[in-house]
Amino acid sequence: MALSAIESQTILVVGGGIAGVTAAVEAADTGYDVVLVEKSATLGGRVAQLNRYFPKLCHPTCGLEINYQRIRGNPKIRVYTLATVSAISGSRGAYTATIAANPRYVDARCTACGDCAKAATTRVPNTFNYGLDTLPAAYLPHPMAYPMRYVIAPEVIGTPEAEAIRAACKYGAIDLEDKPKTFDLSVGAVIWASGWKPYEAQKISSYGYGRVPNVITNVEMERLAAPAGPTQGRIVRPSDGREAKRVALIQCAGSRDYNHLPYCSRICCLGSMKHAAYLREQYADAEVDIYYIDIRAHDKLESFYKKLKADPQVRFVKSKPASITEGADGDPVLHGENTLTRELYDRAYDLVVLATGMEPSLADASPIKLTMDDYGFIVPEIGDDAGQFPAGVASGPLDVSMSVQSATAAVLKAIQAVRTNGAQPLKGQA
Ligand SMILES: Cc1cc2nc3c(=O)[nH]c(=O)nc-3n(C[C@H](O)[C@H](O)[C@H](O)COP(=O)(O)OP(=O)(O)OC[C@H]3O[C@@H](n4cnc5c(N)ncnc54)[C@H](O)[C@@H]3O)c2cc1C
Ligand code: SF4
Ligand code: SF4
Repeated sequence: MALSAIESQTILVVGGGIAGVTAAVEAADTGYDVVLVEKSATLGGRVAQLNRYFPKLCHPTCGLEINYQRIRGNPKIRVYTLATVSAISGSRGAYTATIAANPRYVDARCTACGDCAKAATTRVPNTFNYGLDTLPAAYLPHPMAYPMRYVIAPEVIGTPEAEAIRAACKYGAIDLEDKPKTFDLSVGAVIWASGWKPYEAQKISSYGYGRVPNVITNVEMERLAAPAGPTQGRIVRPSDGREAKRVALIQCAGSRDYNHLPYCSRICCLGSMKHAAYLREQYADAEVDIYYIDIRAHDKLESFYKKLKADPQVRFVKSKPASITEGADGDPVLHGENTLTRELYDRAYDLVVLATGMEPSLADASPIKLTMDDYGFIVPEIGDDAGQFPAGVASGPLDVSMSVQSATAAVLKAIQAVRTNGAQPLKGQA
């Protein structure tokens, strides 16, 4: 049963990607209690799934681990993973948030020793690698997971295999009776850092994703290039494991298209340039063609663009390919017209990467009525009643540094909301 709404200075952060994690540590370091709710089994969001990230091409751990340390060291932050917010009632300064948490079946005694994984025989899709490979039914979501704790896949619960998995744990950390839970929290403000999902490439039917072999998406490219990814960092073709040396990167795959996402996803031009750099680092003889409408590489990364432009093995082709078909040996073949030279082309590649855009996670899946723009990005509330604010890509397509800035700004608005609502001042203050 829902609590009657009471005033609270606790800040609820929904989503544990870079924006949500930043919001949580910034608010808690300022002295506020924070509840961070993340729907997957680990914090880190999509940034954790990148191989490296611009501007410095760092490993995602550089940015995330420092925040995890701040979370570990700050008792003001409570983290719920495998959890979402199913309802919110009340108003600024006095909301009641209903949290729905799914079972992990593994408690805090887990040392991540991995013995349970050895006892599992069923394999489940590895969502961290976008389904490019599988994991045992007892698994760590990825090597840098936070919390560093295993998960038992619901698929095996109630089977003899689950009993064998439990018996393999010498720390008694597995509870097969764990159940979904729902509970209410009183919070004064809410930060929505629910991020994005990749646009579904199958919807761009002329590009043959899922039908033509060796057509992949940009997020899958990140996992192929990652040392902890499905190919241990070797950029190879999914169909036959052959080295992918002649590669086409297709910009605006789904974005800037009224049949799909009408807006510019803002990050995918730079994402593809990063992919060209991955390929050129990995194979000295790699040849990369980038098919584009216009290049939108924002300000500070102009030099990255110029460096690639100067590389004779990277070609920028001004064209939006019309279609992709299957050629010999599983080669994807691009068909279209170069709009500068008017040349018609039919070109075969080892691999084609679709630069699919970013779609807001909650566009069609929000359990709560939130003010959204035409595309599903959350619009911040304004005025004296404002108590719910978006951060990161939940508010629009942003890169990591912009997401961090937006999270910090959302924290300021959330603090204003809980402090100007008649709630008690922080301890020690007049
Ligand atoms: C191919 C590609 C490459 C990129 N490379 C770079 C790069 O090199 N450098 C760079 O700066 N940026 C890069 N980006 C952009 C970067 O990924 C984003 O800036 C970043 O992910 C934004 O973080 P976020 O926290 O806003 O969202 P997310 O990373 O999406 O995190 C949102 C979190 O919220 C959780 N969540 C969602 N819904 C709910 C819910 N209802 N309840 C609870 N939790 C929920 C999700 O599980 C997730 O953990 C790239 C993007 C793409 C597409
Ligand atoms: S659940 Fe038990 S067996 Fe599995 S990793 Fe954790 S401690 Fe090891
Ligand atoms: S960032 Fe580049 S690839 Fe992405 S939608 Fe905008 S123009 Fe297209």
